[in-house]
Amino acid sequence: MNGNTWQPGAKDPMRFLGGYPPEVLDQVRELASAGRLGDHLARRYPQRHAVQTDRALYDYATELKQEYLRSAPPLHKVGFDATLDSAHKALGLHTAISRVQGGKLKAKKEIRVASLFKDAPPEFLRMIVVHELSHLKESDHNKAFYRLCEHMEPRYHQLEFDTRLWLAWRELDRAAKA
Ligand SMILES: [Zn+2]
Repeated sequence: MNGNTWQPGAKDPMRFLGGYPPEVLDQVRELASAGRLGDHLARRYPQRHAVQTDRALYDYATELKQEYLRSAPPLHKVGFDATLDSAHKALGLHTAISRVQGGKLKAKKEIRVASLFKDAPPEFLRMIVVHELSHLKESDHNKAFYRLCEHMEPRYHQLEFDTRLWLAWRELDRAAKA
């Protein structure tokens, strides 16, 4: 957060964009109220990806990890999670689950991605997986964390913003059609 005082409500679609400068949020509101947000996103991100199963997501994440983060701890589990809806934490959960194994406590690295990303542009899936993989090395959203994200995906910051925009648009669109 950048110290601005705007506090979005729990159901406000704009909550996904909390922390961005007020003038950026005003532009988004303008696009949205003109009904142009969907077109704006569709023009820039016309594609959809084919990663639709936990197995495919595991392979996708493992490939990225092999390419950029070989030294990070191994991934034990990767999957889509339908309970992680946009109302909760659509940007994914990275969990280290502690389990006792053969008398030893072992932290298991697990990546869960909200199922709604099955229908996302490929760029947004990549952004979310890059984000979660970076958490294998850095648990906080600090400078080192974002350096890792940008190492894996140079457009990381733009993609995170656009992913948040897309999440907001999905809710605005649903509300408009209701
Ligand atoms: Zn995070």
